[in-house]
Amino acid sequence: STEISLKDIDQVANSSFPLCMRHLFEKLRETHHLKHGGGCNWGCSSRCRNPSGVGLSLDDALAFWRRMFFDCQVGSERFDKEYAYSIRHNYGKEGKRTDYTPYSCQKIISSTPGTGDHHGCPYRNFSEENLRAALRRMGVGERPMEEVMERVRNRHYQLACTLTFEAVHGTSCDSGVNHPNQYLSLSQRAMQ
Ligand code: SF4
Repeated sequence: STEISLKDIDQVANSSFPLCMRHLFEKLRETHHLKHGGGCNWGCSSRCRNPSGVGLSLDDALAFWRRMFFDCQVGSERFDKEYAYSIRHNYGKEGKRTDYTPYSCQKIISSTPGTGDHHGCPYRNFSEENLRAALRRMGVGERPMEEVMERVRNRHYQLACTLTFEAVHGTSCDSGVNHPNQYLSLSQRAMQ
């Protein structure tokens, strides 16, 4: 199975996260930086460190960065209460055993994110302008971009995501995209 170390998470986010995770990750990082004056760099407290010090599985790593953010923030007095609530609400309360597994695309797409909530499927929730800009940042060229936008107009969000995958990786994705983690592992495999 694919193993990545913590320092690789940023790089993996950049190369292999689907748009929904990418957006969430950017927002978490932004907030994280704001709260810690930009100096934290994921190592702000002992709670934030990988206890085993060895490579994490991909799923563990994903769970870890969510938890890392959560733990770091909980210690901070400046923690925005609303944000804490939204994280707690989505990822379970501190102290409880928590399932960090992300939802399937279907569930993400059918959910309606509240104001200031960065969860949800960007293909469904972003304005056309924001979506185009985000896709451009992922490296989607103009022609595939139009194909993606056409799927979005027809509300075929998972197909739009699949086409994005294909454009970014230059390879076909016959299985289609049905889970953010699946996108991630397909991407990691495609890049090997
Ligand atoms: Fe995420 Fe699925 Fe939407 Fe792609 S289709 S952005 S993986 S929720």
